[in-house]
Amino acid sequence: MSIAVFTFQYVENPDHIKLTLFVSLVVFGFIYMGVSDYYLHKSPEGSRAYTFMAKCGPFFDFIAFSALVPLTGGIESPLFPLAYLIILHIAVYWRFLGGIIAAILFISVYSIIFFKQVSDISSFDSIINYFCHVLFLFLIGGLGGIIVSRERKHYSEKNLLVEVATRDYLTNLLNHRSFQECLREDLVNDLEFYLTLTDIDKFKCINDKYGHVMGDKVLRQIGAIFTSVIPVNHGKVFQYGGEEFAIILYTKEQFEVNRILVQIKQSVANHTFYCEGEPFSLTMSFGSCKQNGESPDQLVKMADKLLYEAKDNGRNQIVYSNVG
Ligand code: GH3
Ligand code: MG
Ligand code: MG
Repeated sequence: MSIAVFTFQYVENPDHIKLTLFVSLVVFGFIYMGVSDYYLHKSPEGSRAYTFMAKCGPFFDFIAFSALVPLTGGIESPLFPLAYLIILHIAVYWRFLGGIIAAILFISVYSIIFFKQVSDISSFDSIINYFCHVLFLFLIGGLGGIIVSRERKHYSEKNLLVEVATRDYLTNLLNHRSFQECLREDLVNDLEFYLTLTDIDKFKCINDKYGHVMGDKVLRQIGAIFTSVIPVNHGKVFQYGGEEFAIILYTKEQFEVNRILVQIKQSVANHTFYCEGEPFSLTMSFGSCKQNGESPDQLVKMADKLLYEAKDNGRNQIVYSNVG
């Protein structure tokens, strides 16, 4: 757009100094865009380098704008509305304060060009023109900043609500609601998976001996062990309720499920918990079955039955259904 505007104006009124400056600006712009796009592409999204490069963008825009507007007609430049876009861009990163500071910077640039360009600054038209521009720049900065701040607040509140609705407060694992939704969806999509229910052995004794606060810490640490093993093995883990957990492993091979469950069982059994310096350990029992077209309730019932078989057989073990 800038090239088109400049070319039209240049054809009407050739000016070699302006042409040299404009070409330099365009070359500088392309080099900047090439370098920044390269770094944005190379750096992972959310990294410090990525954020830094993304935040440099509005600064470059401001510099380019300050050079471009005087080259394309000054305060009458058709490219002047770019200022509004750049102010909003700055407000996206630095919210209300950023919007206001950006507005002040653009007002300064506008004022410098205005006072250099307009010969009769005391005329009524000039004064009205000047104040309208200044007011609009200021309003865009302020309103843009307020809107961005409000949207960001809504966004983080929404994320918080989603967290509260889908995660267990104590362990930060996905909660029972998430489990039921995931199970239903996986069955509707006829995915191949194993459902495992697992329960801490003799957990009541831990609560009785070390207290419920320690019991809660144990649940958190077990949640962390699950999180370190299951997601990297194509699985999902949920807090089913209390000291019971549900695991969905997306595979049709029982030996693969067994490998993962044995790893979890061993990790839990080998973990040393400490209560005021006193070490203790615990075990878990598992009941696991392959989905075979049952309803969600039937599948959970099956896994639950297998879990109780593991308890009845002496705990600290994995029991599978014969099917699959
Ligand atoms: P089993 O080997 O048969 O599973 O024995 P158990 O003692 O683990 O089983 P039981 O169902 O008798 O007890 C479960 C206990 O888990 C009872 C309850 O106090 C405790 N519990 C459930 N949820 C929580 C929790 O969020 N925090 C703590 N600290 N304890 C919990
Ligand atoms: Mg239980
Ligand atoms: Mg238990």
